[in-house]
Amino acid sequence: MSNLPLNKKIIAFDIDSTLTESKQKLRYDIAELLLRLMEKAKVAIISGGSFHQFEKQIISSLNEVSAILKTSEIEHAPPSSLVAPNALPVFTNLLLLPTNGSKRYDYDMTKAEWKLTHLVHFPADLKEKVFQAFEQLIQSNEFNLPTETFGPALEDRVTEITFSALGQEAPVDQKQVWDPDQAKRQKIKAYLEAAVPEVNISIGGMTSIDIMPKGSNKATGLESLLEVLGMTKGDMLYVGDALFPGGNDYSVLEDGIETVKVANPLETAKLIKGWLS
Ligand SMILES: [Mg+2]
Repeated sequence: MSNLPLNKKIIAFDIDSTLTESKQKLRYDIAELLLRLMEKAKVAIISGGSFHQFEKQIISSLNEVSAILKTSEIEHAPPSSLVAPNALPVFTNLLLLPTNGSKRYDYDMTKAEWKLTHLVHFPADLKEKVFQAFEQLIQSNEFNLPTETFGPALEDRVTEITFSALGQEAPVDQKQVWDPDQAKRQKIKAYLEAAVPEVNISIGGMTSIDIMPKGSNKATGLESLLEVLGMTKGDMLYVGDALFPGGNDYSVLEDGIETVKVANPLETAKLIKGWLS
């Protein structure tokens, strides 16, 4: 614990451009670093993505790497009738916060699976307002939006609506060049803020915009987690790439949680390595 910055008890990470490249799977070397970090402190992972996206990008790699590592290196569960034989004890130190923390999943050792333990409500009539605003926006031709997308552009993630300008399945190279300076999305954000003032709109990833009911963002998601854990803001360190005004990590900085800004997963890996050395 002593190597961790300022003796933090919990380290929270964003996913896209922090732990992984946009929508890509967690690299094995970074998965190993995370598993080792979980032996020293709690780890929270928070992102605009759905739980399915967490499974695809993060959990799959963690499971695969923990299976590769020798049992002497990463602790496996002792035989017990209360613990599933394939359960991984370090996962009790991992908290998953999909859709910007409007959902929370904890690890259930008895079943070796992830369990939904918290959910923030997004009223249906408010969702309808958001969908209508997008319909007008797409038809207006003022926002340089592609007419054909790779998969649906709008996704209802129950507690959050996500707009991906090129579609959920768009190739990364096309995403990279679409809105590198965020100018297009800032314009969309301004339009939506005027059209639906009851929601919170944040820019994330390369092409996406996350929409949640006002007052619900990464900071409130993390705060509700800290409360459940009996911890305070001072116990947490947050690592993210979008810690600028309008970025999807900015609410955390504004909230007064200590943050570290990284540019990419390699910087995050270096950071964790430093804490573990
Ligand atoms: Mg990010």
